[in-house]
Amino acid sequence: SIIAFGSVNIDVSARVNHFPVPGETLHAHDAGLGLGGKGANQAVAAARLGADVRLVGRTGDDPLADFAADSLRRHGVGAENLYRSAGDLTGLAMICTDSGGENTIVVVGGANMAIDGTDIARLVPLLAPGTIVLMQCEIPLDALRAAAQAVMQAGARLILDPAPVPQDGLPADLFPLAELMTPNETETERLTGLRPHDAESARHAADRLHRLGLRRAIVKLGARGVLYSDEYGHGFVSPFTVDAVDSTAAGDCFNGGLAVALSSGMDLAGATRYAAACGALATTRRGASDAAPTRQEVERLLAT
Ligand code: ADP
Repeated sequence: SIIAFGSVNIDVSARVNHFPVPGETLHAHDAGLGLGGKGANQAVAAARLGADVRLVGRTGDDPLADFAADSLRRHGVGAENLYRSAGDLTGLAMICTDSGGENTIVVVGGANMAIDGTDIARLVPLLAPGTIVLMQCEIPLDALRAAAQAVMQAGARLILDPAPVPQDGLPADLFPLAELMTPNETETERLTGLRPHDAESARHAADRLHRLGLRRAIVKLGARGVLYSDEYGHGFVSPFTVDAVDSTAAGDCFNGGLAVALSSGMDLAGATRYAAACGALATTRRGASDAAPTRQEVERLLAT
C-alpha cells in the first residue's frame, strides 16, 4: 500500500487580465476551488491510478476541512487519518493568474504547520515492510525528520520530494533515510549547487546527491525530460509530447505515479518512464489534484 504524509491545501484560483495594484479591487473572469497541497496531490495522483492510498495529515477545524476530506474521498484516497486541528485554518493557496500566464500565489500554511509527533504516532501503525511513503517539504522539518526515521525503522520505503527545499537546505540525515528523492531543476540546484539543464548536467548533479548519501536520485527537468540514477547505473527519459496548458502539480503526479510503479515491482527505469507519462498528462489539465490522470490515460500515452 501507499501512504502520503504531508500537506493538504485548498487552492482558490482566479484568472485576471492583470494583477491588482495596491488598493485596487479586481473582478476575476474565471475562478476555481480545488484540492491542493503536495501531500494531497501526490495521494490523489496515486489513487487515481488505482492504488490503495491513505493520507496522514491535518486540516483546520473549519468548513474547508470538509471540502478537503470530501475531495480526497471522491478521488479514492483513504482520509480516516486526516486530523482536524482545533484552532488552525485549513491550509490555503490563493492563486492569481494573469493573461500572460504568470502566477502570484499566497500560501497560508495553517494546519499543515501544526503537524507534529501526534501525527507521526498516527503514521507508525500504518507502516509495514515494503510500504511506500510519499513525503514532501510543506510541513515542519522536525516532523519530517521524525517521520523519515519512523519509515526507516519500519522497513518501509521513503520517496522524498524535496519541494520546496527548506530555507537552510535539507538536513544531511535525510539523504540516507530516503530510498529516493525527486528534485526538479531549482531544487537540484539548491541541494547540489549545480543547475541541471540536460542529461549530462543532471547526471553530474545526481552524482553529487549520491555523495550526500542518497541511494536513488531522479532529477526532473520539466519539459526537457528526466534523469534517473542509482548504484546500478543511470538513464534518461525523453519527455512525452503533450499539449501543456498548466504545469501545476506535474511534479506531484509524477511522484504519485512513481510510487504506484515502484509498488507494482517495476525497476527504476520503467518506473521513471511511467511517472514521466503521469507528469506529462497532468500538464494537459488545469488544477492540482484535479489534473491527475487515470491508469487508462497513462497506459494509452505509454503505448504511443
Ligand atoms: P515540478 O512540478 O516538481 O517542478 P516538473 O515541472 O519537472 O516538476 O514536472 C514533473 C515531470 O512532469 C517532468 O519531469 C516531466 O516528466 C513531466 N512534465 C512536466 N512538464 C512537461 C511538459 N511540458 N511536457 C512533457 N512532460 C512534462
